[in-house]
Amino acid sequence: MEKDISAYPAEFFTRRGIDRVVFDIDNTIAPYDKPSPDEKAVNYIQSLQAAGIEVMFVSNNEKERVELFNKDLGLFAVHKAGKPGTKGIEACLAQSKNKGKAAFVGDQIFTDCLAARRMKMPCFLVEPIQPKETLFFKLKRIGEKPFIRRYKRKVKEV
Ligand SMILES: [Mg+2]
Repeated sequence: MEKDISAYPAEFFTRRGIDRVVFDIDNTIAPYDKPSPDEKAVNYIQSLQAAGIEVMFVSNNEKERVELFNKDLGLFAVHKAGKPGTKGIEACLAQSKNKGKAAFVGDQIFTDCLAARRMKMPCFLVEPIQPKETLFFKLKRIGEKPFIRRYKRKVKEV
């Protein structure tokens, strides 16, 4: 698991033959309470696009959140995607212009990565930008540990 999206520059994808990347939004690109991507995130997305990578969003959050976030970017974005269900990712892949390998980038192993795995796509994790320190999330993180260890071994193989 990497600290944030900047750990996955364009070359990271292109050298793996990946030409389309689906991103989670909340806590992957922006904190929950930030309506828009910051300059660093916008620059990052543009650097992928400059390398020919198609960028899309799949979020479980509400329509208003996703539309406002995506207002200036104007990318293909799915709200209320119901991850770990796969319908959001499927919609992205069906409409994307690029037809090479696809990957997912998200912060949640039980929603983002499970959805990606069901689509047989590699999933690249980032640490949640703003971890929720409720008891539920603490327990969830403990539960994730063995999966994250296994995930780290797998990423080396991709
Ligand atoms: Mg998230």
